[in-house]
Amino acid sequence: MDRFTGNFTQQEPIPEEGIEAAVAAMRHGRLHRYNVVPGEEAEASLLEQEFAALVGARYCLAVASGGYAMACAMRAVGVTVGDRVLSNGFTLAPVPGAIASLGAEPVFVEVTEDLTIDLDDLAAKAASSGAKVLLLSHMRGHVCDMDRLMQICDAAGVLVVEDCAHTMGAEWRGVASGRHGVMGCYSTQTYKHINSGEGGLIVSDDAEAMARAVLLSGSYMLYARHAAAPPPEAFADLKWDTPNISGRMDNLRAAILRPQLPLMADRRARWRERYVALEAGLEGTPGLRLIPRPEHEAYVGSSFQLLLPGWRPDAVQDLLARAAARGVELKWFGAAEPVAFTSRYDSWRYAPAQSLPRTDAVLAGLIDMRLPLTFSVEDCAQIARILRAEVSAVWQAGAL
Ligand SMILES: *Cc1c(COP(=O)(O)O)cnc(C)c1O
Repeated sequence: MDRFTGNFTQQEPIPEEGIEAAVAAMRHGRLHRYNVVPGEEAEASLLEQEFAALVGARYCLAVASGGYAMACAMRAVGVTVGDRVLSNGFTLAPVPGAIASLGAEPVFVEVTEDLTIDLDDLAAKAASSGAKVLLLSHMRGHVCDMDRLMQICDAAGVLVVEDCAHTMGAEWRGVASGRHGVMGCYSTQTYKHINSGEGGLIVSDDAEAMARAVLLSGSYMLYARHAAAPPPEAFADLKWDTPNISGRMDNLRAAILRPQLPLMADRRARWRERYVALEAGLEGTPGLRLIPRPEHEAYVGSSFQLLLPGWRPDAVQDLLARAAARGVELKWFGAAEPVAFTSRYDSWRYAPAQSLPRTDAVLAGLIDMRLPLTFSVEDCAQIARILRAEVSAVWQAGAL
């Protein structure tokens, strides 16, 4: 029986150019983004300009993490203590955590079998909750019908802040993910699409919201040093009443990230090849449902999900054990207790208890797998063969 020996959490190395830029920053020692000599432009400011150009945004701000980006963006559009904020019932812990960090309350929206936010439930809760903001998580890279989502939110007067931790480089109908809402937030944490260990980016075309975000991020009164920020006039009134909540990105991380931006298109293509190899190898396996990818979605396949609809928990557990024995590391969103990075809305007990029966049914059979670019296309075909065999074995023994 073949066994897969790859490491599911091993990302590619930092490009040599990034290593050299990082070493240069350490040699001169000016790691803080506002520590520049005359005529020098900070790496952080250069990164902001380059990322804004990449996604076609007017403004960009680099910050300390993806979680910080979401909290900062929500605060910049007016979320405050006691507010209710709509968000996905199916997402990861930093999303409700960002809402909670503002003293606001998440109102969770159901997920569909295609792993996108349930737009009917969203429309109902946009009307009933009193929320003025949706923190939309493009969880695991699955992008919903963004045209319909924006119609629903615009009609209800709900502002959209996008969590693009899994969709940097993705598009809906040719528009970059993160460019539909008022602000788009990205993570540059090691497991995402560009890697600086930790880090985050915010983009927007809204001058007032971005000026607030820059001030919030801890710009002191040095906002004029942000080349991808709104002009100084935009800060004139805001600077008096916007608190400094330090969460800046430093020049070392920015130096590591800049050479990764031009690689994004190639990374997307390589991720897609791997994703498609897995998908092809699993097609038609009895007992298993693959997630359809809509025609208008240009996705980055940095992870892979599949559904085991109606499977008993012990049958799912059996599959996880069999796959693990053959070197294939699966995560399950249906487990009773949160494990490692995988947790569920009902384990975020700081939020008011909510009932999401459709989400419960989907998560009960949801299997998740990372797909690092260090895997070859042949590795992905091998993983698919192993999974196909083990799913079939458990299915034939009776999984329902
Ligand atoms: C990783 C992640 C974030 C941002 O996380 P940070 O670790 O704070 O950079 C946000 N949303 C989702 C869904 C994530 O997986």
